[in-house]
Amino acid sequence: DAWLAQKRRDEELARAIRSDTAVRANVGSLDERIPPSADGIGLVRTELLFSGRLSPPGEMEQASVYAALAKGVAGNPCIVRLFDAGGDKPIPWLPGEGRGMDLLLAHPHVFEAQLRAIDRAREHGDVQVLVPMARSAEDIERVRAGLASDAPVGALIETREAADAIEAIARVSDFISVGTNDLASSVLGVDRAVLRWEGTEAFLRDERLLVVVRTIVERAHATGRKVTVCGELAGHPEMARELVALGVDALSVACERIASVKVALGARNR
Ligand code: PEP
Ligand code: MG
Repeated sequence: DAWLAQKRRDEELARAIRSDTAVRANVGSLDERIPPSADGIGLVRTELLFSGRLSPPGEMEQASVYAALAKGVAGNPCIVRLFDAGGDKPIPWLPGEGRGMDLLLAHPHVFEAQLRAIDRAREHGDVQVLVPMARSAEDIERVRAGLASDAPVGALIETREAADAIEAIARVSDFISVGTNDLASSVLGVDRAVLRWEGTEAFLRDERLLVVVRTIVERAHATGRKVTVCGELAGHPEMARELVALGVDALSVACERIASVKVALGARNR
């Protein structure tokens, strides 16, 4: 009956879940309280850190902010996402069409200053780079070419098109992260705002989304790359279990969700 089926499914999940899955923090403000149990920072939404101003932050200011975040999670990675403006995230100092990498490349001075800031911050911790709205292998290569350091570069996969191009993208990336907030809206054809505020669970459980995540994981693993999920989806304890059972290697969730996700995964607090 239903109860037995559920029990069997739970046991299956428990077997598939490894307790050493890293659970990292999503950071969008400097006042965020990152719990000590966090296994590093899996996503810094850098556009939000500097959103309340009219001109872009300079290289030195950014470097000190990224260095401080990295020092706060010393011994663990601090994954800094390049400015992701556009669409529903307008930033006054990154005007124009497009979103993520597309829009950033239209502002080469801002792009280059951010990469230099990351190079500087790497002297203080394990700072890594995440490319928002990655579209192609070329996007990743442009970021790598702009860095003076050997910072690991990851691709944030958050559109259907990027998911379709995952093999080529993974081959030139150090790691893959899946942004399920935007990916869900791309795959399911619904507005992100709807996903956030109404019927979230039903949409997120939609098989079409999980099939795409599974395919990303399989193809990225085939090229030897690890996969993180950093959308809000990963912060639901039950979904976190399912994602890990699908083969996802690490999760990055809102700070206040870390404890319950760790409990759900049976993770040791390191
Ligand atoms: C996402 O789209 O899932 C994501 C992590 O990025 P953001 O929510 O900042 O767009
Ligand atoms: Mg996104």
